[in-house]
Amino acid sequence: MKCHYIYTEEDGKVLIPGCMGTAARGMEYCTCRSEVSFAQFERKQYNDTVRKLRAEIKELEKENNYLNRTIKKLLKTNRHEQTN
Ligand SMILES: [Zn+2]
Repeated sequence: MKCHYIYTEEDGKVLIPGCMGTAARGMEYCTCRSEVSFAQFERKQYNDTVRKLRAEIKELEKENNYLNRTIKKLLKTNRHEQTN
C-alpha cells in the first residue's frame, strides 16, 4: 500500500503512511512513488477531493429540491385543510 490521505469528519485530512520514509519523517520523505512527485501527488489528491465534494454537493442539491417540493406539497395540503 502506498502512502495516501484519507478524509474523516472528525480530523479532516489524515495521512496514512505506506513506507518507512513517511512513517518516520513525513510525506516529504516518501519512497513509494518515484514516478509521481510530491507536488503531483498533492495535486491529484486535491483534484480527487474536489471531484468527490462536487458529487456530494450535487446529491445534496437533489435532496434539497426533493425536500422543498415536499414542504410545498405539505403547505398546500395544510392551507387547503385550514380553509375548509
Ligand atoms: Zn510512501
